[in-house]
Amino acid sequence: MQNERIGSTGHYRARCYYCSKEWAKGEPVKLEFHLGYECAKCPERVREYWVTKIIDKQNNYQRGPVNKRKKMDSTQTNITSHFKNDEPLPVSEQNALDQAVLKAWVIAGIPFSVIENPFIIDLFMRLNLAYIPPSRTTLSGRILKEEAAKVKVKIDKIFEQSENLTLCE
Ligand SMILES: [Zn+2]
Repeated sequence: MQNERIGSTGHYRARCYYCSKEWAKGEPVKLEFHLGYECAKCPERVREYWVTKIIDKQNNYQRGPVNKRKKMDSTQTNITSHFKNDEPLPVSEQNALDQAVLKAWVIAGIPFSVIENPFIIDLFMRLNLAYIPPSRTTLSGRILKEEAAKVKVKIDKIFEQSENLTLCE
């Protein structure tokens, strides 16, 4: 879609069709991540498509309907919350770290379940005792939820417009 050519033997130069960002080596995972999370100019539905695709790929060991996962995410609590110490990080810092973790996970193709590995949790806590790594479902779910909410707004708008059209004509 946005890459000029990705050969099976190597990655070629690529350029984002929407924002013109260029990569010397257009590795698919980078382009997918760009379109899903970084590109400011690509249309919402394109972003939605790639976000879903990336998350599906990450979760492909536990196939299931996306809707079901989304529902679970909203009610599930963070399993690592018992690691909380008395001085929690400011929300903005926690969010920034979550974003960094998400980016690392997606770019490196690490399964979301790894975030719940006790050794990984231990590692995070050694690095920053106040940081509580997100649960697997939070990591994969928050973005899905945000995206779903955005899509809903869009669909509502479309319905509104078509209703107006019908009324006017
Ligand atoms: Zn772009």
